[in-house]
Amino acid sequence: MEEHLLTVRNLRVSFDTYAGEVQAVRGVSFYLDEGETLAIVGESGCGKSVTIQTIMKLLPTPPSRIKEGSICYQGKELTALSDKEMEEYRGKEFSMIFQDSMTSLNPTMRVGKQMIEGILRHQKISRGEAKKRAVELLGKVGLPNPELVYRRYPHTMSGGQRQRVMIAMAMACNPKILFADEPTTALDVTMQAQILDLMNQLKKELGTSILLITHDLGVVAKMADRIAVMYAGKVVEYGDARQIFYNPCHPYTWGLLGAMPNLIQDVKSELYAIPGTPPDLYAPPEGCAFAARCPYAMGACLKLDPEEYVCSDGHVSRCWLMDERAEEVTPPDGVPTLPRKSVPGKPSGNTLPEGGTAHE
Ligand code: SF4
Repeated sequence: MEEHLLTVRNLRVSFDTYAGEVQAVRGVSFYLDEGETLAIVGESGCGKSVTIQTIMKLLPTPPSRIKEGSICYQGKELTALSDKEMEEYRGKEFSMIFQDSMTSLNPTMRVGKQMIEGILRHQKISRGEAKKRAVELLGKVGLPNPELVYRRYPHTMSGGQRQRVMIAMAMACNPKILFADEPTTALDVTMQAQILDLMNQLKKELGTSILLITHDLGVVAKMADRIAVMYAGKVVEYGDARQIFYNPCHPYTWGLLGAMPNLIQDVKSELYAIPGTPPDLYAPPEGCAFAARCPYAMGACLKLDPEEYVCSDGHVSRCWLMDERAEEVTPPDGVPTLPRKSVPGKPSGNTLPEGGTAHE
């Protein structure tokens, strides 16, 4: 069996609350290889942040709970590790960049001191060497006058500068995987482009893998080698970036792509929005969770959760439309797609449930 750097299999995570069980992640599987970027895309509340925080063991237990599944890193099962054992991985093997650098950095400590703490925790070097490494990293992420930045407090810096500091801290111990949770959402577009270029450059130089979480398909286009589209706690489509952008197969992905502004669009036309809201994960619906918002929903969609259908090599969609007996539908204007007959390799044994062949 092919060995990946990180393999997540059938991960199910719930939160036990007074109001009941919230099934935030409902059977997510994916893998990440060395030196690649996997983007997990989806609306707020789809379970993408919970997924990576579970991998990093950052969620308090209770209320969170892994119900099922496996997280395997270089052959080691992470779900079996204690909090203390996991500390060895965080910072050294895994690093994380959060959306809001102001709340992620300690406002009462100078930048340099915060960086040194992380470096000394995982590397057996002297304080002087750690300082040298911190200043070198601040320079590497494009901050002018890194000696001065080293002595500054986070609140005296701009959002873009703080995000660069976060990246420098994250790269301090040459992590194998960088988890980036909406790393550019709080930045303006110019700064966003610079930070994405910086992450790509560091990935190339250090060979770090990136697990990127975002709702912004523009960011995904710039960064991702492979993409997993999440909806209501499940991965509904995954494939490489080309497959998802040039031959998306799932109506939810069509909606996301259709909602992207583009320069050739008539300025008077309204931007497309996916109608409705995601389902309540206290009581996820039977059948396809997207059915209430999907213009192509069939009778089958309301009864049974779709199986995984292979669209092409490495490209999978969880949608009954991929079944040979479903009616052929046309995606909305502006969404690229290949004709159905060019889609090879559907797995055998996938069948539409009874009564599911017509759009009812
Ligand atoms: Fe739409 Fe049915 Fe496909 Fe779900 S399974 S996305 S409801 S067509």
